[in-house]
Amino acid sequence: MLTLNQEIRERDLSKIWHPCSQMKDYESLPFIPIKKGEGVYLEDFEGHRYIDAISSWWVNLFGHANSYINEQITKQLGELEHVIFAGFTHEPAVRLAERLVEIAPQGLEKLFFADNGSSAVEVALKMSFQYYKNRGEVRDIFISLENSYHGETLGALAVGDVRLYKEVFDEILIQSYQAKSPALVNEAEALKSMQDLFEKYQGRIASVIIEPLVQCAGGMAMYDPSYIRSLKALCEQYGVMLIADEIAVGFGRTGTMFACEQAEVTPDFLCLSKGITGGYLPLSVVMLREEIYQAFYCDYRSGKSFLHSHSYTGNALACAAANATLDLFEKDQVLVRNREKIAYMAEKMQPIADLASVKAVRQRGMIAAIELDGYDPADRIGLKIYTFALKRGVLLRPLGNVIYFMPPYIITYDEINRMIDVAYEAISDLQSVNL
Ligand SMILES: *Cc1c(COP(=O)(O)O)cnc(C)c1O
Repeated sequence: MLTLNQEIRERDLSKIWHPCSQMKDYESLPFIPIKKGEGVYLEDFEGHRYIDAISSWWVNLFGHANSYINEQITKQLGELEHVIFAGFTHEPAVRLAERLVEIAPQGLEKLFFADNGSSAVEVALKMSFQYYKNRGEVRDIFISLENSYHGETLGALAVGDVRLYKEVFDEILIQSYQAKSPALVNEAEALKSMQDLFEKYQGRIASVIIEPLVQCAGGMAMYDPSYIRSLKALCEQYGVMLIADEIAVGFGRTGTMFACEQAEVTPDFLCLSKGITGGYLPLSVVMLREEIYQAFYCDYRSGKSFLHSHSYTGNALACAAANATLDLFEKDQVLVRNREKIAYMAEKMQPIADLASVKAVRQRGMIAAIELDGYDPADRIGLKIYTFALKRGVLLRPLGNVIYFMPPYIITYDEINRMIDVAYEAISDLQSVNL
């Protein structure tokens, strides 16, 4: 007799190809069918519960099956689920747009909807290119940072720098160059490397795209706001546009609503997704300056329109979820209340820093990471830690040698203890096996 978990697994494996996976791995590492979610917990068909310490790939902010978000989506469901967004609009989108302009860095006055993070990156890249083209200039190069990640559609992949995802497609990617990352070298060296590229390709660069403060997929590599400030000045000096990809760090992850706030910088484009709907539904937006919008605003026959769309652009249910998410930020004073949790996580992680195999512990807001030392990538220790923690009811999903916590904001202090204690045990256990 198959257990309930096994039965679903077999039906799944006979049809489904899962993302970011070598399907053969699932022979030895069975995935987990989830029956329900509740707060910070995911529950399988046999009643095992797991703390979702990675917010289901960084999207969930206020827990699974959040009663308020559920209620707001249900309300919207009774009115309108979706409508074509060219030539039509709806109240949830309008309200969301007004609220985002209100809370985003000053000067981002217009926004364009898309339906996932990568598509927002594509929109920003294409807009920056066409902005110059509309003025009669062809700028065919994009700049990003080493160790960066911006999604996996071809344009987004081209400006990313995670070799693992990119290498296979090298021959078909658009032109981009990577400057040194301030998370990996000192700030002056990183800026110098950026300036060298600006000099070398002067007049050909459409935009620079960065992940402000934390290169999440690149191993939760962190850097200071001062870099963003200096980069913005450099962009102004050379006339290059700045795209802030806050798809992962937006909506309070780094301690402020948006990471750019800490640098007091307004980028030319701000890409948002992931947490925008509280982790409920796919939605993304690109916010931009009025002047960019105006460069596309003219007679249709001029050929200057931005002819880009997605079927689910500005989906009404997703906008309702996003409005509910913003309501929760306001009602519950989330950013203020998170400060204590952030400090508590820092304190609780201290003993981990003293473990022999730990190279570094770092944190920015509600993102905390532990980098392990002395393991060969071929050991796939991330996988070992994942398996170890899962047996103890915690979902961790290390990036290479980096274990990280990016929990929903509603996590309790007891749950923080459990999450970090299990990581501590996992690292100690791994050490003892290796001795
Ligand atoms: C996840 C992510 C993306 C891509 O978003 P998808 O919705 O997965 O396409 C882009 N940039 C950053 C920084 C991300 O973390």
